[in-house]
Amino acid sequence: MGARVIDGAGLARSVLQQLQPRVAALAKHGIQPGLAAVHVGDSAASKVYLRNKVRACTEVGVHSEVHALDAAATEADVMRLVERLNRDERVHGIIVQLPLPRALSVTRILQSIVIEKDVDGFSWRNLGALVDAHPQLVPCTPLGIMTMLDHAGITLAGRHAVVVGRSSIVGKPMALLLLSRDATVTVCHSRTPDLGTFTRAADVLVAAAGRPRLITADMVSPGAVVIDVGINRTAEGKLVGDVDYASVERVAGWISPVPGGVGPMTVATLIANTVNAAERHAGMRTNDG
Ligand code: NAD
Repeated sequence: MGARVIDGAGLARSVLQQLQPRVAALAKHGIQPGLAAVHVGDSAASKVYLRNKVRACTEVGVHSEVHALDAAATEADVMRLVERLNRDERVHGIIVQLPLPRALSVTRILQSIVIEKDVDGFSWRNLGALVDAHPQLVPCTPLGIMTMLDHAGITLAGRHAVVVGRSSIVGKPMALLLLSRDATVTVCHSRTPDLGTFTRAADVLVAAAGRPRLITADMVSPGAVVIDVGINRTAEGKLVGDVDYASVERVAGWISPVPGGVGPMTVATLIANTVNAAERHAGMRTNDG
């Protein structure tokens, strides 16, 4: 029998639906949550991601605006825009779509977003709060994955979770969230020798390396939960994850597909973070959780 599929697209729809009454409650206080996205350059993939985010905002009644800057924009141009959005009362969440042109400092730009509006959760303060197990605004991809695991009823306490990838936006916060739920966590990365030795020992395996079909069936323990974060385009233009789905789904107990898995949950979680930020702004929510 094949693995059970974790339907991220379906779950994302229900997460968005559940936000609607909260948006309506804010409207009674005269507040419409607002998300502002900064896009520098004209990457086609970024445009698709932003279109999905705008569509999800519209679905739940969240105001959205995309600020497109030319690829030649300077760091000062981007910072000026972020500063303006930091002060804009209609904006409760600000994101900077990555990747940025190489000439710009991702760190300086991301860290210039005020933490109350940092709905991607990439600021050092928000990441630090996660380290200290007092999460405030948490990076959307790992938080969305936690929602997927919970929805599937997967126990984490006492299980061995292996995260492949150690970026600050996916791998590391993922490891921290799993740790906060009492999993024993191993983090693998590009310098990990014999990756399979580690992945085979995983009860829960999260693949976030950005390497097409890196995880093959022989690297997965029978019955394991496999979450595929990767988004890779093959030479033929096909979208594939980091997991070789066709072979791994015969071994795993649970598996998330690409597309239709983590991607839509990342978007839904971003909108949830924006609603959270608006509720905090309105004093309708405390700082914890
Ligand atoms: P990144 O390039 O910043 O980090 C990749 C990590 O994988 C690094 O820590 C690296 O050490 C590790 N790695 C690379 N090759 C490896 C290998 N052969 N074995 C083990 N580890 C290896 O990427 P990222 O921003 O963390 O994103 C990872 C992937 O997830 C990408 O495909 C990205 O497109 C995708 N992504 C998807 C979503 C989503 O919503 N589905 C969101 C963010 C990122």
